[in-house]
Amino acid sequence: MSGTEENNFQEKSFSKKLISWHKLHGRHNLPWQANTNPYEIWISEIMLQQTQVSTVLQYYEKFIKKYPTIKDLSSSRLENVLELWSGLGYYRRAEYIFKTSQIIKEKHNYIFPETYEELIQLPGVGKSTAGAILSLAYNKKFPILDGNVKRVIKRYFAIRGDQNNEKNLWEISEYLLPKKNNNIYTQSIMDLGSKICMKNNPLCEKCPIKLKCKSFELGLTNVIPEKIEKIKRKNKKLFFFLIQHPNDKNLILMKKNDNKGLWANLWSLPLFEKEKNYKEFLKNNQIESKKIIYLNFAHDLTHLKLDIIIYKVDAKMSNKFNNYNWKNIYDIIGVSKPIIKVIKKLKEDINNEKSNVLKIKKRA
Ligand code: SF4
Repeated sequence: MSGTEENNFQEKSFSKKLISWHKLHGRHNLPWQANTNPYEIWISEIMLQQTQVSTVLQYYEKFIKKYPTIKDLSSSRLENVLELWSGLGYYRRAEYIFKTSQIIKEKHNYIFPETYEELIQLPGVGKSTAGAILSLAYNKKFPILDGNVKRVIKRYFAIRGDQNNEKNLWEISEYLLPKKNNNIYTQSIMDLGSKICMKNNPLCEKCPIKLKCKSFELGLTNVIPEKIEKIKRKNKKLFFFLIQHPNDKNLILMKKNDNKGLWANLWSLPLFEKEKNYKEFLKNNQIESKKIIYLNFAHDLTHLKLDIIIYKVDAKMSNKFNNYNWKNIYDIIGVSKPIIKVIKKLKEDINNEKSNVLKIKKRA
């Protein structure tokens, strides 16, 4: 859409309609909506990047309980923040949150910044997150452009082809802002995208802006947003080794990852990308090289398509593993999703084994 040519859309009614709709049909019970605390809104916005509300809810509540203020968070350690983030994915976000808490402590004396210029300097805060904090916490007139908002705008104006670019979408998002009640408007357009103008099968009949929606009028709701060619993910194979302690099956060998690269700072099973490296590891540590595939599954990251193979091997000795520690599977926190999966299966197997032994004893 070019600005002047489309100004006759009278979009001021767009925000009014959304704000009225939100009163009755919007989401009002999300925990970060309970007040306008910028700290809580910031945590929720960072968690919501790349993650669904339903998943974020459980993590958010635990996080705020442990770190109710920026002061609490800044006096913690990155390791503890990562533990709480365990399983939520995109772990870089936890690091950004921790770094930001240090910046706010040192530069802002624990007071959350309230200007766009200051917010945009914070690690992990992009234009849309800064807009959401300013609008939701401070009721300032700033646009956002998250996935839900993009979809609503693209459909409403039937944006396709050359017009389908970030610059144009930001201009429209800014143009649509109401003169007041920006906090309610921002929440309402996010809610519309999430509850009505959904990715598949939007509920147009229930939509408060359907009368002026171009995609609805032209029957294009299943065509727009046009599919953008996805980034081609690279295929990668990773070999993990599940090694149980010879005297205690609940103990497994783990190592803390470096602070760079895949799953930085999280705990991991011994991981190898090449066969040559794991053979050396097995030999050096006198581990039985007869290995069995315990699990094999795919795991997608933003740029990688991982083929994960978990080998189970027997350790004959219980010590002298440089840089590795024996960790109890019931105490492990701060691990990636694939490792959560392995530990879950291992717990099930150990429990099944125990109940089978009991059954045999009873029969005998
Ligand atoms: S009418 Fe349908 S396509 Fe248009 S904004 Fe509403 S839900 Fe989305």
